[in-house]
Amino acid sequence: MPWRGVADPYKVWISEIMLQQTTVAAVIPYYQRFMARFPNLSSLAAADVQDVLGAWEGLGYYSRGRNLHRAAQIVMREHSGKFPRDVDNLRALPGIGRYTAGAIASFAFDEPAPILEANTQRVYARLSGYGGDPRSTAGQLALWAFAETIVPAKRAGAFNQALIDLGALVCVPVNPRCDECPVASLCRAFRAGRQNEIPPPKNRPKITEVHEAVMAIRRDGRWLVRQRQPGERWAGMWDFPRVPLTGPMKSQSVEFVKLHRSLLESTGLRTDLVTLLPGFSHSVTRYRIHLARFVVAYASGEWSQEAAGRWVTLDEMAELPLPMAMRRFVTDLLNPGWDPEAAFELVNKPRQQRKLASRPS
Ligand code: SF4
Repeated sequence: MPWRGVADPYKVWISEIMLQQTTVAAVIPYYQRFMARFPNLSSLAAADVQDVLGAWEGLGYYSRGRNLHRAAQIVMREHSGKFPRDVDNLRALPGIGRYTAGAIASFAFDEPAPILEANTQRVYARLSGYGGDPRSTAGQLALWAFAETIVPAKRAGAFNQALIDLGALVCVPVNPRCDECPVASLCRAFRAGRQNEIPPPKNRPKITEVHEAVMAIRRDGRWLVRQRQPGERWAGMWDFPRVPLTGPMKSQSVEFVKLHRSLLESTGLRTDLVTLLPGFSHSVTRYRIHLARFVVAYASGEWSQEAAGRWVTLDEMAELPLPMAMRRFVTDLLNPGWDPEAAFELVNKPRQQRKLASRPS
């Protein structure tokens, strides 16, 4: 891990934010690219937020990228470019919660700040014999209190890192290796033979299925993109216009008639169907998003939405921060496996001479 053992609050901060909900292996290349582009706090604070979101692209949870940028500007402006050392001032920065504040304070400054994340949560629950749900409010209160009692006054950074490693390598979720554990003699769960019951398994979150149509609209070789607005998923990123669907698509032609109408009502644009690309599904937090992907030709009308919309080429689009599903859509349009010019030409013909472009395989 390139950030391990580095007492640089900027590097600790970036790595900890990236590691939220993402594995170490997945984070390493993003971390290295991000550091090459924004090697220090001042370069991040001075960057355009769109560039920061571009560097964040693929990690998901884009609000984290925006918060990084805002926090860097606040540290430059209000703390003379120096990271605060104490947990309270760290927690006042956007996107920094109690764990991240404790990690920065202890790893970078050796402040005696407690931490509680997935690994230490499990270790502390077993060490203290806490049998309730560690993710509940009561569980969090109990385990943070435990973390405060055990964090040492000196070398808190090494201590906290060691506990994370203990959870990752020895006190693993299933069949912890208690016979190799250096703290087995202190562990209440082990003494009671309850190491496999603590913590109790978590309830799986209910997954909500979402169906959407996404419309790639072309006009004179350019495509309509809109910037997603504050409060929307992936705010600040660029996307093709989307229309919600009530369920999986049954008939392409019937669905397009409905979509055409709803697009006209919501955006003021009339369009003609060129082709449909294979559907695409992906997960975002507790949502499973199923995308029906339409390629359409602009026919008439003007973009009526307040939300920023632009007509851009595919090459220009490649430079914009895009949600992962959009990046894939753009890649598919750049490498179509069908003849887009012939297909767009076709929709300009009188209706009776048209035949829908064959669906790409
Ligand atoms: Fe975890 Fe077992 Fe060590 Fe207790 S003794 S901390 S359950 S590995």
